[in-house]
Amino acid sequence: MTNQLNNGLSNLWLEPFKGFSTAATHAGQEPEQWNSRMVVPAVTPSTTFKQFSPGEHTGYEYSRSGNPTRTCLEKCVAALEGGKHALAFSSGLAATQIVINLLKSGDHVITTDDVYGGTNRYFQKIASKFGLEFSFVDFTNIENVKNAMKPNTKIVWCETPTNPTMKVTDIRKVAEITKQQNDCLLVVDNTFMSSYFQRPLSLGADISMHSATKYMNGHSDVVMGLLIVNDDALRDRLYFLQYATGPTPSAFDCYLVNRGLKTLALRMEKHQENAIAIAKYLEKHPLVEKVKYPGLPSHPQHEIMKKQATGCSGMVSFWMKTDLEQSKNFFKNLKIFILAESLGGYESLAEHPAIMTHASVPPEQRKLLGIGDNFVRLSVGIEDVEDLQADLDQALKAAVAGYK
Ligand SMILES: *Cc1c(COP(=O)(O)O)cnc(C)c1O
Repeated sequence: MTNQLNNGLSNLWLEPFKGFSTAATHAGQEPEQWNSRMVVPAVTPSTTFKQFSPGEHTGYEYSRSGNPTRTCLEKCVAALEGGKHALAFSSGLAATQIVINLLKSGDHVITTDDVYGGTNRYFQKIASKFGLEFSFVDFTNIENVKNAMKPNTKIVWCETPTNPTMKVTDIRKVAEITKQQNDCLLVVDNTFMSSYFQRPLSLGADISMHSATKYMNGHSDVVMGLLIVNDDALRDRLYFLQYATGPTPSAFDCYLVNRGLKTLALRMEKHQENAIAIAKYLEKHPLVEKVKYPGLPSHPQHEIMKKQATGCSGMVSFWMKTDLEQSKNFFKNLKIFILAESLGGYESLAEHPAIMTHASVPPEQRKLLGIGDNFVRLSVGIEDVEDLQADLDQALKAAVAGYK
């Protein structure tokens, strides 16, 4: 398996590492930086660091402002995402909050109408209390973004593919719009793709954001957020906010995510392989109404996906031919897919967005987006695909009583 970087995207950013997995293994991890020349960076729990004389120190003084384990992770992430700088946070939403903290009262933000439920809640219930204005539009029609732009628009927050209805936005086209306006940043939530399949900075984004809780860590045992940027001044502004407001991750969590990155390429390839097989299987299933997977030609924005990403993750959404009771039966009967929120771990998960992750989205908006009682979101893991297919089949049949 070679890394598929030759789809027109530059891979110069990986210098001196030519390939993604080489960078994942070595970037920021050079043993020469430590006296002991250890190969695996240490977990540094120390909150404080001894100074040579007042104000004269190694670069580390207090772990909120910097920690060696976090630095290793941030350097590796920057290399993988094709950025100059990365910053790690205590959660994806903490990273989101720091980006929004760049703004001041009276500024306007445009965002995807089916943006992640937690982002939606933060924007509508908290950030808007501080005098920020939000417009939620469907980015699949780029005219909607153009029409929503105002003189005070300072951030365009783009999530692609969206969670959970898998709408894909043409990142280059949105970047063309934001670049025409002074001081307007394009932020792309890259959580669903990971750095392995999509690198928004190379497509014109100013900030790439991840909930590293998902694919980047990949083992469902850390909650973390990441921001990656190229611009030095923007990095300094974000770093100041990180330091001054404090949502930093623990050294141990940084160690775990750094470890998870070493197998990111392998995991993503397997997630993709399984997800394609599952999506194709479900498309033919008599109890399934519709499947949405951006990696399949049946997806309405499949062509855009091919232009801006090198592959597609394990996220598959579908609509069953069921009512609410039958849908609940489906979830209760799953034996391998685990009924749980979150995504991007090695294990397969299934969830009911209307009742679970997207309950905080107002019912009228949920209806508009197609997040109904028969709607399922899968995070396809790296298990054996035959087992996953058989599990979905038996649960679908059990859901619809009397179905043979
Ligand atoms: C989970 C998620 C977030 C929020 O990240 P946390 O780590 O849970 O705070 C943001 N965006 C997307 C697309 C997500 O899936």
